[in-house]
Amino acid sequence: PAKQRLLVVANRLPVSAVRRGEESWALEMSVGGLVSALLGVNDFEARWIGWAGVNVPDEIGQRSLTIALAEKRCIPVFLDEEIVHQYYNGYCNNILWPLFHYLGLPQEDRLATTRGFQSQFDAYKKANQMFADVVNEHYEEGDVVWCHDYHLMFLPKCLKDYNNEMKVGWFLHTPFPSSEIHRTLPSRSELLRSVLAADLVGFHTYDYARHFVSACTRILGLEGTPEGVEDQGKLTRVAAVFFPIGIDSDRFIRALELPQVKDHIKELKDRFAGRKVMLGVDRLDMIKGIPQKILAFEKFLEENPLWRDGVVLLQIAVPTRTDVPEYQKLTCQVHEIVGRINGRFGTLTAVPIHHLDRTLDFQALCALYAVTDVALVTSLRDGMNLVSYEFVACQASKKGVLILSEFAGAAQSLGAGAILVNPWNITEVAASIGYALNMPADEREKRHHHNFMHVTTHTSQEWAETFVSELNDSIVEAQMRT
Ligand code: UDP
Repeated sequence: PAKQRLLVVANRLPVSAVRRGEESWALEMSVGGLVSALLGVNDFEARWIGWAGVNVPDEIGQRSLTIALAEKRCIPVFLDEEIVHQYYNGYCNNILWPLFHYLGLPQEDRLATTRGFQSQFDAYKKANQMFADVVNEHYEEGDVVWCHDYHLMFLPKCLKDYNNEMKVGWFLHTPFPSSEIHRTLPSRSELLRSVLAADLVGFHTYDYARHFVSACTRILGLEGTPEGVEDQGKLTRVAAVFFPIGIDSDRFIRALELPQVKDHIKELKDRFAGRKVMLGVDRLDMIKGIPQKILAFEKFLEENPLWRDGVVLLQIAVPTRTDVPEYQKLTCQVHEIVGRINGRFGTLTAVPIHHLDRTLDFQALCALYAVTDVALVTSLRDGMNLVSYEFVACQASKKGVLILSEFAGAAQSLGAGAILVNPWNITEVAASIGYALNMPADEREKRHHHNFMHVTTHTSQEWAETFVSELNDSIVEAQMRT
């Protein structure tokens, strides 16, 4: 029998498109978590629907890009610049992202945001409707439609308005905040109701699912049940369940066997011989707690003079949203702290912090994970944090230590093997650094084993398969109830 078709709808397609001529496009696949999750899923025939990240105002361009993308099983949604500005930069990144991560805005930004709110929310709905139009155009009976993330909270409702028979799932990749936070959003009820139109709603952790259910009961006055939310009047049931994502752990384990990666590992080992390597890998985002991490490292060096030439912190800070003033400010702030600490504790031949504003390619990243003694994840809030999973996958021989923020979703799954910390408490983080660096081998091995078992069994493939099969099941159950 033909495989069930899975339409994966996300804001961005897993492809970057660069225009080379009127009808010519260069496409590059990007292998994020979602892509590798679905590459490994063989039960379905997956298709992607999303924005290609470029503005294509002309019809010739749109037609040629659509044809080029079709080869990669991708279907584009064309958003014009004004919509992108209001929907993506505005509502998604300036309103939902900070709110879902419990970040406050500076007072003047808050007032500007409040004033611009309605037009941004209108653009958000309009953009979601544009995604729905494309889905609807390509939908065939029996397909499963899987919507992703905070960009597309309005999509389930748009799709069900088109066709109530459509099987629709929605998954949130960020935290869902406490209902007391969600309450402050002017569009709070409309967003919840549109998500609830889905047949299955998924989150990374039990807490996020619980917050969502509380928001529905307290703000909408619906009934929370162990399986989700029940809307008495309409007799619809929504399962709000948690399905933690994972990684394609084999891909990382296999990479370590490549000759180039082995060479790279050797180079790094030689370069840092005699020093313990600590590693941070984050997008340079407010949620990652990078200043807090570096301040804790400074405190550790301050209190442990004997470690000053025995440890190095490598911080990979991937540039993100570099056109936004808030992010520029964060970059300056981090550079200033790093400069101060290197000035204070550096020698003529070595500095304690190597801070890089750049991305690494996959192989360089794997090599770095493999030579690390202590990984340091200090997110102030983080939906999951896949870096911590990737580090564990690459540590089969080294068995290094993971220091992990309790505010990352990963703390729920890797908590038993990691050292959990409150990133706001730099005294605690500094003490944990000392504890990790001095940890005896048997404790390291035990902790690593715990995490390695988790990461290699709770893979991204498993995540995708479970979500889609639950989605199919919840529709069968719903039909049986009526
Ligand atoms: N990553 C990358 N290049 C780099 C550094 C990181 O591709 O130079 C990847 C990393 O492998 C991971 C992702 O970026 O898969 C970050 O995911 P995570 O969940 O940790 O955080 P997010 O950036 O999604 O908030």
